[in-house]
Amino acid sequence: MSILDLARPDIRALAPYSSARMEAQGGTVLLNANESSRPPNIPGGEGLNRYPDPQPRGLVETLAELYGTAGDRVLVTRGSDESIDLLVRAFCRAGESAVLISPPTFGMYAVCARIQGAAVIESPLSRHGVLDIDALLAAVTRATRIVFVCTPNNPTGNLVDRDDLERIAKALEGRALLVIDEAYAEYSGLASAASLIDTYDNVAVLRTLSKAWSLAGARVGTCIARSEVIGLLRRIIPPYPLPSPCVDAAMGALSYEGRRVQRHHLHEILNERARMFVALQALPGVREVMPSHANFLAVRFDDAAGTYRRLLAAGVVVRDVSRYAGLEDALRITIGTGNENDRVLAVLRAGAPA
Ligand SMILES: *Cc1c(COP(=O)(O)O)cnc(C)c1O
Repeated sequence: MSILDLARPDIRALAPYSSARMEAQGGTVLLNANESSRPPNIPGGEGLNRYPDPQPRGLVETLAELYGTAGDRVLVTRGSDESIDLLVRAFCRAGESAVLISPPTFGMYAVCARIQGAAVIESPLSRHGVLDIDALLAAVTRATRIVFVCTPNNPTGNLVDRDDLERIAKALEGRALLVIDEAYAEYSGLASAASLIDTYDNVAVLRTLSKAWSLAGARVGTCIARSEVIGLLRRIIPPYPLPSPCVDAAMGALSYEGRRVQRHHLHEILNERARMFVALQALPGVREVMPSHANFLAVRFDDAAGTYRRLLAAGVVVRDVSRYAGLEDALRITIGTGNENDRVLAVLRAGAPA
C-alpha cells in the first residue's frame, strides 16, 4: 500500500503539462518558449523576459536545510495557500471525498475543499482551544482523505503536541493524509513535526516565509512530504509558480545576514507578545487573553464589536473573529512593533466613550 493509493486515480494517470523550461536545459540561444529576447526597460528588469525556473534548485535546497528535510521532499508554492489547494485537488474527488478540520481554524482548508467539491467535516476545538484527539479520530469517515491540523492554530494560538500529532498520523495510516500547518512554528520555539515524515508516509507539513520571515508579499510557501507526494503535486502545480523577483527576495531573506535580522525580529515579537499578554489582561473590559504560541493574541472582550469599532476609529485594524463558533466575543490582535502595540493599549485604556 502506497500513500498514492489514497490520491485521485485520474491525477495519478494525468499527463502533466510539459513546459519549455522543463524540456530543455542548457543552451544560450533560447528560442523555445516564445519569450522576448529583450529584457523589459525597467529597473530590475534584467532576466525578467525569461520564464523562471519552476522549482529553483538553490531555493529548494535552502528551504530543505532551513526546515531540516531533504530537497526531494520539498515543493515550493505560491504561499502555503497554494500547497493547501494542491493537496486537496490531488487527494479529494469531487462529490465523494471529505476533509476534516477542527474549527475555529484557518479558513482556507474549508474554502479549498468546497472549491474542489469535497465535503468538510468538523470536529471543534474546546473553548480553550484544545484539540480532542479521540473526537477527531472518531470523526474520520471512509470518505475522509485529508485531516488538517494547524499548530500553532490560527486564530487561537494553541499548540498540538508532537505525541498527539504522531498518534493522529498513526491512526490515519492507509486511510488519510495528515496535513500539519506550521505557518507560525517559528514563534513557538518547538521542533517541526516534519521528522514524522520519516516514519509516516501519510504526513505533509506546511511552512511559509509569510509570517516570521516578513515575506507575505513574495508568496513563498513550502509543502514538505514524501517524494512521491511531492511528485504528484508537481503534476498539477501551474508551470511557473515562482516569479523570479520573489525567488530573489526569498534567497536574500534566507542569507546569513537575512537570518541574523530575522532572529532579531523574532526575538522582538516574542518579547512584545509576552508584554501584551500581561498588559491586555489588566485592562477593563478584557475577559480573557488566550495563551498564544504565534504572533497574535486572541482576546475575549465584554464588548468585542464595540472594541473593534473603537480601535478602528483610532486607526487600528484588528481581526474580527466573532464569526467563529466559540470566539463570538473575541478579536485577534497581531503583535506589531512596540509603538503599534502601545496604540492598541492606549485605545483600550481610554475605555468606552460615555
Ligand atoms: C497565514 C497562514 C497561511 C498562509 O500563508 P501563505 O504562505 O501566505 O499562503 C497558512 N496557514 C495558516 C494557518 C496561516 O495563518
